[in-house]
Amino acid sequence: MFNCIFCKINFGIIQVNKVYENKFVLAFKDKQPKAPIHILVIPKKHIINLNMVKKKDIWLLGILQFSIVTIVNKYPDMRKGYRVINNCGINGGQTIFHLHYHILGGKIFTGLMNN
Ligand code: 5GP
Ligand code: ZN
Repeated sequence: MFNCIFCKINFGIIQVNKVYENKFVLAFKDKQPKAPIHILVIPKKHIINLNMVKKKDIWLLGILQFSIVTIVNKYPDMRKGYRVINNCGINGGQTIFHLHYHILGGKIFTGLMNN
C-alpha cells in the first residue's frame, strides 16, 4: 500500500532500526519509545488491523505471535516478562493502519492501565 508508513518501512523507503525479520514478518524499534525497549512487529503483508484479518490469513497471526517470542528471547532485559499491545481501530488508539503489535519491556509494568 503506497500511503502506508509501515509498508514503506517494509520496502526500505523509510529507514528503521530492524531487530528481526523473516519471510512474513518485520520487527523494528519504535521511533517514539514508550518504554526502555519498544519494538513494533508487523506482517509484511498490508492488513489494516486485527479486525480486518481474514480467515485465510489466520496462520499469519501465529507467525506474528511466535515472532514476538523469538524477539523477546534475544533480550535479557525481558527475561522476566514484557507487555504486548495491539491498538485496533480509532477507539483503540491505532494511528498507523497497518497491523502491528507493540512489544514493551525493560521495566516493571503494574496494572493494565498503569505505565
Ligand atoms: P499505534 O498508535 O498505531 O498503535 O502505533 C504506531 C506506532 O508507530 C507509534 O508508537 C509510533 O511511534 C510508531 N511509528 C510511527 N511512524 C514511525 C516510523 O516512521 N518509524 C518508526 N520506527 N516508528 C514509527
Ligand atoms: Zn501497510
